[in-house]
Amino acid sequence: METKFQELKTRLLEVNDISSAAGLLYWDQSTYMPPGGAAARGRQMATLSRLAHEKFVDPAVGKLLDELVPYEESLNYDSDEASMLRVTRREYERATKIPSEFLAEVTSHTSESYQVWTEARPANDFERMRPYLEKTLDYSRQAANFFPGYEHIADPLIESSDYGMKATEVSRVFAELREALVPIVSTITSQEPADDSCLHQHFPEEKQLSFGLEVAKQFGYDMNRGRQDKTHHPFMTKFSLGDVRITTRTKENFLGDALFSTLHETGHALYEQGIRMDLEGTPLAGGTSSGVHESQSRLWENMVGRSRGFWYYYYPKLQSVFPEQLGAVSRDTFNRAINKVERSLIRTNADEVTYNLHVMLRFDFELAMLEGKLEIRDLPDAWRERFEADFGIVPPDDKDGVLQDVHWYFGLIGGSFQGYTLGNILAAQFYTSAFKAHPEIPAEIKRKGEFSTLHNWLKENLYQHGSKYTAPEIIERATGSPLSIKPYIAYLKLKYGYFYNLDNDGTQQWEDMVKTWPGQSVS
Ligand code: ZN
Repeated sequence: METKFQELKTRLLEVNDISSAAGLLYWDQSTYMPPGGAAARGRQMATLSRLAHEKFVDPAVGKLLDELVPYEESLNYDSDEASMLRVTRREYERATKIPSEFLAEVTSHTSESYQVWTEARPANDFERMRPYLEKTLDYSRQAANFFPGYEHIADPLIESSDYGMKATEVSRVFAELREALVPIVSTITSQEPADDSCLHQHFPEEKQLSFGLEVAKQFGYDMNRGRQDKTHHPFMTKFSLGDVRITTRTKENFLGDALFSTLHETGHALYEQGIRMDLEGTPLAGGTSSGVHESQSRLWENMVGRSRGFWYYYYPKLQSVFPEQLGAVSRDTFNRAINKVERSLIRTNADEVTYNLHVMLRFDFELAMLEGKLEIRDLPDAWRERFEADFGIVPPDDKDGVLQDVHWYFGLIGGSFQGYTLGNILAAQFYTSAFKAHPEIPAEIKRKGEFSTLHNWLKENLYQHGSKYTAPEIIERATGSPLSIKPYIAYLKLKYGYFYNLDNDGTQQWEDMVKTWPGQSVS
């Protein structure tokens, strides 16, 4: 049995090596590759992805998994070996249920769709995308139907990025969140908007980059196992647990972009760097789901990086880097600027209060389309209608409406958006649990600019396990309860209740909430 297990591990290590090589080619393409390399690079990455897939779905892997069933049953659920077998079996089943000819067809369709989208979006031409989207929806249904026995047709698609989450459960949580959010958004946006002009000045690139990276290192980003490079669309990527990289972009006329995207990608990187080194090269050496991954980027970017406690310590340092730009700007003005809330058309530019409404609109539409309740031809009108209901504004065109996100034009419809909002919800839930275990966390951040207690709690309870536990399992283990929106709503009400006039009615309920949110009560 041990020999067979070793043989399986060796095969999986090779799959991992090929995928990592493809990842490195992608990183290079997005950072340093000259434009002339594009055509060959696309082909090279496709070749490596195909090889990795073929190696993984090899019937020999299935045979080993079958033969190792008794071995897995003899082991403790929490052991690395049992976990590795459990996770590999799950992924093997997913990978083998979808025929490779189907995958190839979808890939060629979506890359064509993407090419057309790059022209149709600037031209505001939804009609041109309509036939592509109809075909994509058809493929998405077919993909789901390779997994018969689902409760909801979106489940198999959701499970490819957020395993363990189901459409009905996500819908229920989102409906609850939407009910709480809509009044908060309308209360805030009916008030005088924050003045964020201090962020829109000239900030030299080099200084922006070095300040962001300094904070990333203070968060605990290990530069012996990481580096930062410039790109167009920031991302984090990992080639091994010893090489976890972040990328960023700067706008010299806006301070908020590079700084917060650096902190965001650092959060993703801390998760990957925090995985136990002895899981290296195994299927367990990666974050467990898109929602849990996003919870870490959001926790470090928003709950730490946009908090008043954080800037209590770091604002004087930022001012000394940019004395001309910020020397005369008060800390309070700066805090309000980086937490400005406004109704806006574009998801990726949205603030943390309105952001989830953008995501929920897309998630609900994905379900409706898959269920056959929403036709592609009705999508632009449905978008405008829902947008007006949620945001009080009507998108003037499709370019900044239904055509804005790449997801549906470059991939399947279903499962591509829920992770963002699950991440926001979970960030608050994890942070609250860390704070309950270590009430000194907010004071450490505020007084000393130190993050090690928070970082260590996250490593201990979340990061080290990699993908050993599913999202629902790790949430329960780390926080003692299932996914809940309560900590997130408390976070928003308390944080934004400081900047805006919210319904702080002085009741016991409000007071109790204050005590649960780290950092707000530290004076
Ligand atoms: Zn992210």
